[in-house]
Amino acid sequence: MKVIRLREGKERSLLRQHPWVFAGSVAKGKADPGETVRVEADDGRFLAWAAFSPSSMIRVRAWSFDEAERIDAGFFQRRLQAAVAMRQRLAIQSNGVRLVHGEADGLPGLIVDRYDDILSVQFLSAGTERWKDVIADALLQVTGCQRLFERSDSGVRQMEGLAPAKGWLRGEGSTTVTLQEHAIRLTVDVEEGHKTGYYLDQRENRALFARLVRQFGCKSVLNCYSYTGGFSVAALAGGATEVISVDSSGPALARADAHVLLNGFDPAHHTSMDADVNGTLRQLLKDGRQFDAIVLDPPKFAPSAAHADRASRAYKDINRLGLKLLKPGGLLLTFSCSGGIGAELFHKIVAGAGLDAGVDAYLMQRLEASSDHPTTLCFPEGEYLKGLALLRR
Ligand code: SAH
Repeated sequence: MKVIRLREGKERSLLRQHPWVFAGSVAKGKADPGETVRVEADDGRFLAWAAFSPSSMIRVRAWSFDEAERIDAGFFQRRLQAAVAMRQRLAIQSNGVRLVHGEADGLPGLIVDRYDDILSVQFLSAGTERWKDVIADALLQVTGCQRLFERSDSGVRQMEGLAPAKGWLRGEGSTTVTLQEHAIRLTVDVEEGHKTGYYLDQRENRALFARLVRQFGCKSVLNCYSYTGGFSVAALAGGATEVISVDSSGPALARADAHVLLNGFDPAHHTSMDADVNGTLRQLLKDGRQFDAIVLDPPKFAPSAAHADRASRAYKDINRLGLKLLKPGGLLLTFSCSGGIGAELFHKIVAGAGLDAGVDAYLMQRLEASSDHPTTLCFPEGEYLKGLALLRR
């Protein structure tokens, strides 16, 4: 077993059971990509069993802080079993569920989403790549699924020195499934969809939106960055009669249109706009339009804290426009999925946007990712999606 020795004082984060060690904290020791190593403090004390990643800034990702634990097929079986059992307890109202959420489930770099009978999986670290076959077999065993599609085509693989990979790892067949999410139906293509196929993290917020649209009697709804129209269908389910989905992806909008029909809603109640959101918001404002409800769910403007400044301006801009486009009493759901923008900062940004817009709003509810995308006490970085439900005064 190879040993990685840390610099003096650099053991603190592992002692707090935070699973990452950055390159600068390593004093000596080397291993192959993904190889299991024993991580020791500078005085030789055991800290963790971990996966080594020679090309990543995150040089070491801990598998276990228990010296007696062995990192083998049984280890992965146990961790996966625990992750799946936790989701069963959540009793999620959908057949689309995140079963493994990386570090939060003690499996750094592993994302597993279940879409009906298909597991869609991202192996995002050298460690998960090395254990891919073991993990794939254990996943089938633990879930009873027979099909597993790999979506390791995320950019973060590059930082681990890994090439993109995409395709069936186990089983085969059609890559499209239909989800029943709360009261709405959605189709997902695990091959072509974003991330592992869909944005399961917004499930509960889509359901909340349907309820609020009904409660406040919202009729006209603007869904910005709509992707395949999840929030749009939710709005129709809540009784909206004029819903606009805006996205820059034609194929996503085609699916949004199909989703309206799939759920039995009148296509005359829905319009897809293949356009840039920023320009569209400005145009709608010029046209004097206003809406009963608006959703702003943009892509990650700040991939890391280093981009926080520019991203803050971008968030402020769309929120200023969004607030102006709300009718008095109107409902705004606004989100940021940037890890580099914390919940408190996001609140500040939206407050600034309100001041600029001359609009105040009641903060109805703070929003976060669905509970199958958990955060843990030791790994605050896991908290990425935050949002606000606002009611214009
Ligand atoms: N709310 C969606 C997920 C949104 S993901 C859901 O619940 O499923 C972000 C979306 O923003 C993507 O579909 C992407 O195509 C779109 N997008 C990114 N930049 C854009 C821009 N400048 N204008 C319009 N759409 C954009």
